[in-house]
Amino acid sequence: MVYSLLCTRENSADFVLSGSPLPFLGIHFMLITEGLNETAFRIIAAGEILTTTVDLAQVYDLSAGGSFDFLARATFSLAELDSTAITKTFLVESNTITAIVDGSEAAAAQQADASRDMHSLIKDIGCSDDQMAMLNAAREFCRERAHAAYYTASEPDSPAFSKVREFFKDESKMARDKIAEFFATTYWDCDTPFVEGGRHFCSDCSDYPVVAYADTARGRAGYCPIYFEFDAQNEGCHDADRPHVLMHELSHLFAGTTDTVYGYENLIKLSSSQALNNADTYAHFAKGKSLDGRREQGVANGLYSCA
Ligand SMILES: [Zn+2]
Repeated sequence: MVYSLLCTRENSADFVLSGSPLPFLGIHFMLITEGLNETAFRIIAAGEILTTTVDLAQVYDLSAGGSFDFLARATFSLAELDSTAITKTFLVESNTITAIVDGSEAAAAQQADASRDMHSLIKDIGCSDDQMAMLNAAREFCRERAHAAYYTASEPDSPAFSKVREFFKDESKMARDKIAEFFATTYWDCDTPFVEGGRHFCSDCSDYPVVAYADTARGRAGYCPIYFEFDAQNEGCHDADRPHVLMHELSHLFAGTTDTVYGYENLIKLSSSQALNNADTYAHFAKGKSLDGRREQGVANGLYSCA
């Protein structure tokens, strides 16, 4: 069987440094997974080996130098030949490799990477008035969802507490604190109107199958033209909309998540440690609807379960 592989560019793998975990300083791109054209894929023949190179010194601060252990985790999305519909997603994890790093060389590599703002894909080109209005409309849903998700994760008596187990597979105090902390931070970020020059900006990445991205080193989220074609909001339990994407990007910035998998049908299969570090898990968890009645009273009091 010959498959074609969805090319994920710079974020084709997450490298995990063991010992003292280091924060990822690269860019998480959110890719579209439907309506892709052929250029987004790479055809791989049976037995073919694909090679890619990632400069770890550009996406982690290795300037302390010394010995580092690391391994690569990657998610592959596959379509069958002559199709652009993704039929299979699977995770791979490498063995652990130990490398001796020259701290000053690593620091120089990171400096060189500081020029990446010139890269058109991640350039802030400014939002139009319409785009900023759309981002602010998403922000208001984000605030409401964050409030409800915070309540649900914090309160074992909340009506939709079973959603914590469904999405994160872990109801321990430690897990709930991590989830609640993210939604509290997100609530406050989404409580303040977005303005030009702030954390959220618009980017011309229309040549790429990218919806939005999080620049973790700079604490900023960029939105591509495709983002503004998403629903302003929708009622589907497991369907993405603009507030969903916004919350997904914020989870990279505030909770240090990665993109292990997209979509409810995939994220529901993750282990608890994978789920707690997967961006889409937070965004989908928060997409339950506020309990009716209480919303009218100005209190988005938890989520209710979607069938
Ligand atoms: Zn992402």
